[in-house]
Amino acid sequence: MSYSYEAPVSQALFDRASVVTPGGVNSPVRAFRAVGGTPRFMVSGDGPYLTDADGREYVDLVCSWGPMILGHARPEVIEAVQAAVARGTSFGTPGEGEVALAEEIVGRVAPVEQVRLVSSGTEATMSAIRLARGFTGRAKIVKFAGCYHGHVDALLAAAGSGVATFGLPDTPGVTGAQAGDTVVLPYNDLQAVRDAFAAHPGEIACVITEASPGNMGVVPPREGFNAGLKELCAANGALYISDEVMTGFRTSKAGWYGIDGVAPDLMTFGKVMGGGFPAAAFGGRADVMAHLAPAGPVYQAGTLSGNPVATAAGLAQLRLLDDAAYAKVDAVSAEIRGLVSDALGKEGVAHRVQTAGNMFSVFFTSDEVRDYEDAKRQEAFRFTGFFHSMLADGVYLPPSAFESWFVSTAHDDRAIERVAAALPAAARAAAEATGEGVRA
Ligand code: PLP
Repeated sequence: MSYSYEAPVSQALFDRASVVTPGGVNSPVRAFRAVGGTPRFMVSGDGPYLTDADGREYVDLVCSWGPMILGHARPEVIEAVQAAVARGTSFGTPGEGEVALAEEIVGRVAPVEQVRLVSSGTEATMSAIRLARGFTGRAKIVKFAGCYHGHVDALLAAAGSGVATFGLPDTPGVTGAQAGDTVVLPYNDLQAVRDAFAAHPGEIACVITEASPGNMGVVPPREGFNAGLKELCAANGALYISDEVMTGFRTSKAGWYGIDGVAPDLMTFGKVMGGGFPAAAFGGRADVMAHLAPAGPVYQAGTLSGNPVATAAGLAQLRLLDDAAYAKVDAVSAEIRGLVSDALGKEGVAHRVQTAGNMFSVFFTSDEVRDYEDAKRQEAFRFTGFFHSMLADGVYLPPSAFESWFVSTAHDDRAIERVAAALPAAARAAAEATGEGVRA
């Protein structure tokens, strides 16, 4: 199957990139391996649109994998960045911008009494786990299959096959020792967590979970799941870490915590809070955060942590995210979900649109998806035709059936009409898909 006919300039760039960069990309999903074809090299973004190197415009339903909740090149954010850049790009000293961003986060998310800024979601989860281990003096951590927390060695053990599994590394380069203290459990299964605590009394430092998972497609926690995790952690002297890198400041002013109200001991953030720049954070209970250097013994640091340009972008973005902005993103999400479901329904394609606030994804199955095993049972091959038809008609979707779709305040009627116009052909492509010739 070849899709390169549509994007000669992107293809030429991809060929060039593949010489100097492994696989031609700087983050694997960008390479389109799951759907085939030529990754589009983007040159600019404006509101809900991206323009690629071939001069084609797309309605963007990825939004940089979450950060661009106000759309691309929002003038107030750009102005804040320009003003910050003009003052210098990095000082390696404390600065007022990082205090203001920390205050904004603490002000929005009640369980966060103190916060430390870092540069990526990966760094946030890595540091939160180190802190949990340092605070509790315990080694083991619990994570859930299908939850992604960045490429932290110990968290790349997602190899649970429905049973409690001692982490087998998912990737070469992660040693058994690095993954061996990671217990991987099926998502949405409190009994498995109870059993793990019973099997390892006094050994588990923390349970880390996506607040509402978006990395196996959107699979929200069942009623009471997060509350149950909190309770089990408290009863067993472990910390409950909620990873809100994806949901934070996206699903509500206070992220998923603003929806379910379950207060974690530690939380991690990224994406939206950086306004499109590398800024992330972890924070939570002051007595736990007090263990972090230089206040306490657990070491953590970063040359560019709290970078003045990144904090200016994040702060400008967060300050624009008021109730009206979230209402708008929620409404856009509901409208697009409805259009997708109608189009697939008309073609008789078995599907299920699952949501977590304004995050959503489309599973090609009619069964509820509660965990990673369920997600893998969908007819993912139908997504390939669907994706390429949407792309050909100017709609940029995440290039995998196992990802959340993201929308923004900038998705206006014109953008939504373009999505609506593209859907009937894409739904037909999904209906006609046979799975033959699809790349793994
Ligand atoms: N945690 C979650 C829930 C994520 O979705 C991601 C990235 O997608 C990360 C952590 C890692 O963040 P980053 O890519 O900034 O390292």
